[in-house]
Amino acid sequence: GAQFFFSLLLLTALIGTFIYLLKTIKKQNQAAVLRKAFVNNMTHELKTPVSTVMAAVEALQRFVAKDDKERMHNYLEISKTELEHLNDMIERVLELDVDETHRIRLVKSTFDMIPFVRSCLEVTRIATQKNVQILFDPAVEHLVMSADEAHLKNVLGNLLDNAVKYSGDPVQISVDVKEQAGYIVLRIADKGKGIPAEHIPRIFDVFFRVPEGTVHEVKGFGLGLAYVKHVVEQHGGRIRVNSEMGKGSIFTISIPKT
Ligand code: ADP
Repeated sequence: GAQFFFSLLLLTALIGTFIYLLKTIKKQNQAAVLRKAFVNNMTHELKTPVSTVMAAVEALQRFVAKDDKERMHNYLEISKTELEHLNDMIERVLELDVDETHRIRLVKSTFDMIPFVRSCLEVTRIATQKNVQILFDPAVEHLVMSADEAHLKNVLGNLLDNAVKYSGDPVQISVDVKEQAGYIVLRIADKGKGIPAEHIPRIFDVFFRVPEGTVHEVKGFGLGLAYVKHVVEQHGGRIRVNSEMGKGSIFTISIPKT
């Protein structure tokens, strides 16, 4: 009797362990599939800036021979923008990789948000072909905070990129930053296509893209907002979104000041 009971217990424990192992393997497989899809997409996407820079450098060589300063300057600017973009994407690949095992390790420094936001806006303006109209008129001249500047730059870059990508032409963006109860509150509003209400809860999920409309004409992996949310939450902050179809979207981030 007791021996039978003991065997049964052992069997149950063994089955339990087996199920646990199966679940773990399945989870790891899912992570591997996600990673593979991500790397496939990314590899394709990384080729674009490389071929653009290649073409720009070839053009540069021609215009150096002709001593055409204006065109040289133009192609240098394009190369620089594309290299920055490439650098940004490589960083994101590395960050996602880190993310599977640990969380992103923040390296904080103290900096002024106002010139920081201004420089992010400038990058967005240079990097896009569209006519971008940005309204940024902060109530204060300085707003010092402590955060991971590089990651925050990517966060802002992602949100501004989206505002541009999911708007027509011209693009109208308004940005606001202020201090509120120990938090830095950053608000990015666009007048683009908006997000269907039923999809809003999923836009921060990895690989999620709104499945309908013209989204497939717009390049993307569905990773930007997942990364944005991760960085914001690593800082002890929060991100919220308000959106109305055909009217536009507002992303609000609040991050502790220190
Ligand atoms: P990606 O832009 O690469 O597709 P994101 O994670 O940045 O990925 O965004 C997820 C999805 O959320 C987008 O595919 C798009 O459908 C929607 N979205 C994000 N930002 C905006 C925005 N400002 N306006 C409208 N839709 C947006």
